[in-house]
Amino acid sequence: MPENREAYTRPEGGCAVTTIATGFDAKTTDAVAAAIAALSGRRIAVLTGAGVSTDSGIPDYRGEGAPVRTPMTADQFLSSESARRRYWVGSHLGWKAFAAAAPNAGHRALAGLEERGIATGVVTQNVDGLHVRAGSRRVVELHGTMRRVFCTHCGQVFDRRDLARRVEDDNPWIRVPENVPLGPDGDVLPESTDGFVIPDCSVCGGMLKPDVVFFGEFIPAAKFREAEQLVHTSDALVIAGSSLVVNSGIRLLERARRRRLPVVIVNRGATRADARATVKIDAGTSDVLPAFADLLPSLR
Ligand SMILES: [Zn+2]
Repeated sequence: MPENREAYTRPEGGCAVTTIATGFDAKTTDAVAAAIAALSGRRIAVLTGAGVSTDSGIPDYRGEGAPVRTPMTADQFLSSESARRRYWVGSHLGWKAFAAAAPNAGHRALAGLEERGIATGVVTQNVDGLHVRAGSRRVVELHGTMRRVFCTHCGQVFDRRDLARRVEDDNPWIRVPENVPLGPDGDVLPESTDGFVIPDCSVCGGMLKPDVVFFGEFIPAAKFREAEQLVHTSDALVIAGSSLVVNSGIRLLERARRRRLPVVIVNRGATRADARATVKIDAGTSDVLPAFADLLPSLR
């Protein structure tokens, strides 16, 4: 139990002292209190990155100590069958891990903040779909989603669950994890994917591609405008679980700063924009976001 857990007070009144059973140290407690002061009474746009999902067991490839990674580009995927084979094996296993993961306290806190009229929605860099599963309604998935796959020829969209069944029917060996040696960062080693049957479009036979933005690809312009719109119609920005190495995050932060909105960053470890934040909280999102949900007054 932290010694300073009485330090919180609800912003709308001095009488109700809220005690939260968290392990925050004094510095984090002060930062949370400063964030609550900056955010109270405001409608908040939220931007999330991989850090919100690490407590759901989904690794953050950009986090501290993560191995150097060379993700596949869309060009490699489109031009090489062996690259596609490797990609699909890894993507199938990745999707299985995502499907088995559950939203954590951070995802649930954001859904609750939206329900109470405080959060206007979530812009996320994650493709794991956990915000949607936690109950968030307005979710802008900047980098797409693993839930959908589309045909690059006829545009037909497929549900990932149906496709996963086809992949496993065509490649029964993939159900046995020991059959698929993984690299240190979860990537599939090339020699293990020989013989993999790549799924194609059941309508036209065309090439399928997951509905995710590949490394080196641009975020669709309409999607970014949707994210900008969310920031534009809000009075504050919270950035949670992102070290802001992705430029789209920095661009959204600058949109908020240009309008002189308070910007609160919640992230374990340094981000590219700590110096530009109104408040930086160096702590985990599944601890801090529930504290926000507990301490911010409802706006409906
Ligand atoms: Zn097709």
